[in-house]
Amino acid sequence: MVESTETESRKLLGRLREALASDEAGQERLDRITHLIADSMGTEVCSVYLFRDEETLELCATEGLAPEAVHQTRMRLGEGLVGRVAKYKKVVNTPDAPSEKGFRYMPETGEERYSSFLGIPIQRLGETLGVLVVQSRDARSFSADEVYGLEVVAMVIAEMTELGAFVGEGAALSPLHQQSVLLRGGTAQEGAAEGHVWLHEPRVVVTNPIADDPHREMERLKEAVEELRVGVDKMLEMSQNGDKEQLQVLEAYRMFANSKGWMRRMEEDISRGLSAEAAVEKEQSQARARMSQVSDAYLRERLADLDDLSNRLLRILTGQGGASGADLPPDPILIARNIGPGELLEYGRSLKGIVLEEGSVGSHAAIVARALAIPLVVHTERITTEALNGDHIMVDGDQGIVHLRPDDTVVKAFRDKIAMQAKAQERYASIRDKSAVSLDGKRVNLVMNAGLMADLPSLDGSGAEGVGLFRTELQFLVRNQMPRRSELVALYARVLDAAHGKRVVFRTLDIGSDKVLPYMKPTDEPNPALGWRAIRVGLDKPGVMRMQLQALIRAANGRPLSVMFPFVAQFEEFRAARAEVDKTLERERKLGHPLPETLEVGAMLETPSLAFAPQKFFEEVGFLSIGGNDLKQFFFAADRENERVRRRYDTLNVSFLSFIERIVERCNATCTPLSFCGEDAGRPIEALCLAAIGIRTLSMRPASIGPVKSLLLKSNLEDVRKVIADARHRGEQSVRPAVMNYLRNQS
Ligand code: PEP
Ligand code: MG
Repeated sequence: MVESTETESRKLLGRLREALASDEAGQERLDRITHLIADSMGTEVCSVYLFRDEETLELCATEGLAPEAVHQTRMRLGEGLVGRVAKYKKVVNTPDAPSEKGFRYMPETGEERYSSFLGIPIQRLGETLGVLVVQSRDARSFSADEVYGLEVVAMVIAEMTELGAFVGEGAALSPLHQQSVLLRGGTAQEGAAEGHVWLHEPRVVVTNPIADDPHREMERLKEAVEELRVGVDKMLEMSQNGDKEQLQVLEAYRMFANSKGWMRRMEEDISRGLSAEAAVEKEQSQARARMSQVSDAYLRERLADLDDLSNRLLRILTGQGGASGADLPPDPILIARNIGPGELLEYGRSLKGIVLEEGSVGSHAAIVARALAIPLVVHTERITTEALNGDHIMVDGDQGIVHLRPDDTVVKAFRDKIAMQAKAQERYASIRDKSAVSLDGKRVNLVMNAGLMADLPSLDGSGAEGVGLFRTELQFLVRNQMPRRSELVALYARVLDAAHGKRVVFRTLDIGSDKVLPYMKPTDEPNPALGWRAIRVGLDKPGVMRMQLQALIRAANGRPLSVMFPFVAQFEEFRAARAEVDKTLERERKLGHPLPETLEVGAMLETPSLAFAPQKFFEEVGFLSIGGNDLKQFFFAADRENERVRRRYDTLNVSFLSFIERIVERCNATCTPLSFCGEDAGRPIEALCLAAIGIRTLSMRPASIGPVKSLLLKSNLEDVRKVIADARHRGEQSVRPAVMNYLRNQS
């Protein structure tokens, strides 16, 4: 745009629209577009580079560079100026390209004659699809206005690419969202699943990126924004008495909905020829690109708020996406940026798998997914932009790998894996009713962890001998308000009924750290994992704990009852909690409620301090359960939710095992029953080692009982104990290699 004006810009978009409407083949259309842009910008060169695969860009059309280079010239992400634009999602604008850092000369294109270079990322909703470049012989710097104009054009090209406008014979381009893609994430729940994509937040498709009546588009935008504002105000009104965090998000929504800058940018986009929805999407896209660059958590959250708001606005403008009652595809695999535990429970067991773009291993949603035994992969970048509703997808929860639109070889290998797992399941089912007795005659009690009603059927199906850990907080987490005592009584009674006399250990409310109740005043703590959590909250604000204890006693209704307190760090805390139990018992007795036939009151050993408690503690406590997840994080000072350090220290580290052995010895000396209920209890090799050093009750996810039992049945615990002792004697860091070696020789 030599004479850059809005009219000029609209004229160009008008011509692009004609190109889009024509029945030309994809390649011809793309050629025509580069010609139109070069002509309008007054440059000798205009080229479009699109991604061939995740790492490679390909010159797909050009006006001005050597035509033979089309579909031949390729560069890697980050390579040369074009690669730089794609990698950093940032404009490069220079009058003297050859002297720019990172410039790479592509002789086949004949570009050596051109001095100035302007490269713009072609992106849609934060996903970079390619790069649009103009070059000219004279050493000119493109004005801010020209850059802006070209950004608008790049946006239109992105929409056209999304709509498949450049696909077809001669274009040598695979259509977007049809190629098979492998994405890597983090594993949060093991298992393999095959099915079809179900987007939690459906994608809005803009079919009319260009509009020729800016006044009308402006009106449409204003009306939609007004509707949005009214909606946000209504939500704010309704949540006035609600949770502070939710209010903050809504306030941020309101701020954006009233933001003049946001409105002004969209109006400017419209005056350049974009439709209202394309303008919203352009701003959303840029916010997403920024989101991927900023590291500040607060800023990222605000950008995410803007993203949500843009989605709402797009839905209003296009009338798409509100289809909440729409049918799930067969074997649905849920794809979302993030999801709360309540929403996940609404989908329930109908889901075959879950893939989250964000999410975390210790999140509530992960806990729910684990309880439902649905394979879950978290931290899967790009999944929400790559996947389309109905796409064929395979989720490998063991490796944290997602195959989207897999090709035949992947499908075959994956199905083989699923078949092998199914075979293993059959094997586990055949030993379900057997006790876990090792070759040298030692019996290990295998019990399960639970927390949701959905877990209860597993009590029979898995062969668990009871519930070693019932996480009562899950019932509190999935609600919008504090449950009433009567609801808790009914719930705990159902759990005990389902157990048919098997022992169930109820853990009192373990909140704080990452488990935040939506309806409780949030506390701002510098380090929540070391903060006001679990029994600390229970003792400081005993109201809820008392209600829970009452509910448990009433639910037991004369049956045996086992209760344990989480996160006990010193004897006195246990004593104080035990005193609450006694007081509650007395109150219930006076009220005429039947008391439990037997009552065991235990503690979780989750901080190293408790292992060194006085002998008297071990004598007084009814039983101990090692909460390995927390204990390990405090033993190694490595946050269990921090992906960077989470796996750094092996549970089979000699120091950690020695520490656990010490706990076993102390419990043996006082005949205190001991169990282990962290995630490691469900990992066969870890479980074997824990059993070998003397832990005789392991509590795990129901799905782990089969694999753990299967290994215990064919192992000699005394031999494994010796292997551990020898590895320690040799000064090895972890006993894992020695134990693995022993097992290999056994089989
Ligand atoms: C543990 O810390 O090992 C445990 C079982 O408790 P949670 O995972 O619920 O903190
Ligand atoms: Mg814990």
